[in-house]
Amino acid sequence: MSIPVPSETQRWRCAQCGNLTRFDVTRSVRSRDYLHFDLSGASRVEESEVLGETVEQVRCRWCNAVDSAELIDRPAVEADSAAESGAERA
Ligand SMILES: [Zn+2]
Repeated sequence: MSIPVPSETQRWRCAQCGNLTRFDVTRSVRSRDYLHFDLSGASRVEESEVLGETVEQVRCRWCNAVDSAELIDRPAVEADSAAESGAERA
């Protein structure tokens, strides 16, 4: 079973309790990381690029319902400002 992921103009809503804002999301992420090693051999991630990700489970923080998240449209004003700021950064 695949879980719908919100697009730029959508958001999750818990079908059980109506929660819009708080979810625990379990996902598997495939990434490419730039590891920078120092002379002692310790490393840290200095760049990380997400190559792909899959949402495995969405749990509502309010009522604990699992995979009850449904997609709804975001309010129009919020969607517009989010799209604009996203475009300027890219
Ligand atoms: Zn809920």
